[in-house]
Amino acid sequence: MVGLKAALALKQAGLEKITVVVTSPRLLTRQLDDRAAAMVERELAGRGIDFIYNARVSAFLPGPAGNLAAVLLEDGRELPCGLAVVAKGVRPNAALVAEAGGRVGRGILVDEYLCTSLPDVYAAGDCIQVTDRLTGEKVNSALWTLAFEQGRHAATNMLGLRRPYPAPLTRLNSARFGAVDVVSVGRLEGEEVLAEYDALQRTYRRLVFHGHRLAGFILAGRVEGAGIYTALVKSGRPAWGYRHQMLQGRVGSVFLQTFLSGTISF
Ligand SMILES: Cc1cc2nc3c(=O)[nH]c(=O)nc-3n(C[C@H](O)[C@H](O)[C@H](O)COP(=O)(O)OP(=O)(O)OC[C@H]3O[C@@H](n4cnc5c(N)ncnc54)[C@H](O)[C@@H]3O)c2cc1C
Repeated sequence: MVGLKAALALKQAGLEKITVVVTSPRLLTRQLDDRAAAMVERELAGRGIDFIYNARVSAFLPGPAGNLAAVLLEDGRELPCGLAVVAKGVRPNAALVAEAGGRVGRGILVDEYLCTSLPDVYAAGDCIQVTDRLTGEKVNSALWTLAFEQGRHAATNMLGLRRPYPAPLTRLNSARFGAVDVVSVGRLEGEEVLAEYDALQRTYRRLVFHGHRLAGFILAGRVEGAGIYTALVKSGRPAWGYRHQMLQGRVGSVFLQTFLSGTISF
């Protein structure tokens, strides 16, 4: 996401030729499905950004003055360039705790009170490992909203008020690429997947159900009501009965019904 935002910003700043090199066969494989990714690609391509898929960078090649002259791909292709932006995921720096003898996995390991394995040492934010609420996967926390919540929880616990930090929803992405807004939350796949694409309106909605629960969704083009879909995912309560309204984007009535019935709260 950050790489695409950088590409768009550089284009808007007046750079003429911008090429995005992508390791996978399409954009945003961890955040979007084929349809939503194609909408983003079309928007960015329409703004003059080129894409090379299934490719890896193997070297940055210097020019005679030592400045960057080209990027070399593993397949031997050379892309002449004067500027390269590397956007390749997040790796927490947990060295401080590890060197002090604290436990580290995909980040600093903390208990439910955000205390590390070192007595009286708490940790929060990008540097810690968390368990995803939906998938149970151990992942590193890498969102501002989570860092903020965790900071509050850690501070509360440091003050001696015991407040456990609930397993967070770690897959929560929202971005605007030119005229295309996208929001992607929770699982991309599940027991039941419903999707609707309106080519005329350039709107796409994908709902992923696990049992009767909404386990994830993608909105692209128009993203109104994303907060209501997100609240339904977070609540873990049955939402299958609202599937038609949600698929058509009629979430106002879903909000009223679910809020009044106590299924979701804000
Ligand atoms: C380009 C970019 C775009 C992003 N976009 C989004 C987005 O759209 N939405 C979203 O939710 N998240 C986004 N994120 C992620 C978000 O910025 C982070 O999740 C959030 O900032 C994490 O907060 P933090 O306090 O854990 O870490 P940081 O914000 O990284 O703060 C850590 C601080 O600790 C300091 N520090 C490090 N080591 C030491 C030390 N030994 N002693 C003292 N201080 C130290 C650092 O200097 C830094 O100031 C983005 C991140 C990047 C890089």
